[in-house]
Amino acid sequence: MAGVTIRDLRKNYGALEVIHGVDVDIEDGEFVVLVGPSGCGKSTLLRMIAGLEAVTGGTIRIGERVVNNLPPSERDIAMVFQNYALYPHKTVAANMAFSLRMRRMGKTEIDTRVRHAAEILGLTEYLGRYPRALSGGQRQRVAMGRAIVRDPQVFLFDEPLSNLDAKLRVQMRAEIRELHQRLRTTTIYVTHDQIEAMTMADKIVVMQGGNIEQIGAPLDLYDRPANTFVAGFIGSPS
Ligand code: ADP
Ligand code: MG
Repeated sequence: MAGVTIRDLRKNYGALEVIHGVDVDIEDGEFVVLVGPSGCGKSTLLRMIAGLEAVTGGTIRIGERVVNNLPPSERDIAMVFQNYALYPHKTVAANMAFSLRMRRMGKTEIDTRVRHAAEILGLTEYLGRYPRALSGGQRQRVAMGRAIVRDPQVFLFDEPLSNLDAKLRVQMRAEIRELHQRLRTTTIYVTHDQIEAMTMADKIVVMQGGNIEQIGAPLDLYDRPANTFVAGFIGSPS
């Protein structure tokens, strides 16, 4: 496992700077929620950590390694998106195995990892099914399974629950937290939902307009918001 250290990180799209030099320290094994309104730069920040967007300035370290110029496949991260397209013509097991096969991992090791992930996610009896025969929650679990089999140093989630109905969303929040209790993999979880942030995070990073407004434990932000934006956004009375 590894922590993530971000220093003076900037991102421009053309002449427009959308991330203005941010610093974040994420400890090994921590569950960090990056929260803020739509358009504030959460996905851009996460995609730079994943290596899906080039960095304009500053550094990203995973463990001791500066990863700025490494391709996604060499960063030892696994990402779960909102629109987690499963392969419709592959079984659950094949969906979970796909990225490992691409990496030319041996069949026995792949089978072991897929069975382990399925067991953790309660998907064992669904391994032979196709995505169309699964519920929304089960599909989301398969998407998480694809990340778990990689056994990465860091999980990145970008609004993974926003396509689910409210009841399932609450259930999946709890499942993702239980998964973290079990695996203890460093996790960065992006959401625009304050409740999700307050209920899931060890540590919350509040963003607005490409800046970080405050970093702290949920109760710290609630009791001692750094400014009126954080107070309003987190919902504290002050
Ligand atoms: P969030 O995930 O918090 O909703 P994003 O990181 O997607 O925010 O976007 C941050 C800002 O960057 C927004 O103003 C958005 O319009 C802009 N942006 C995102 N992606 C691109 C892109 N590929 N080209 C130009 N601007 C972009
Ligand atoms: Mg986004």
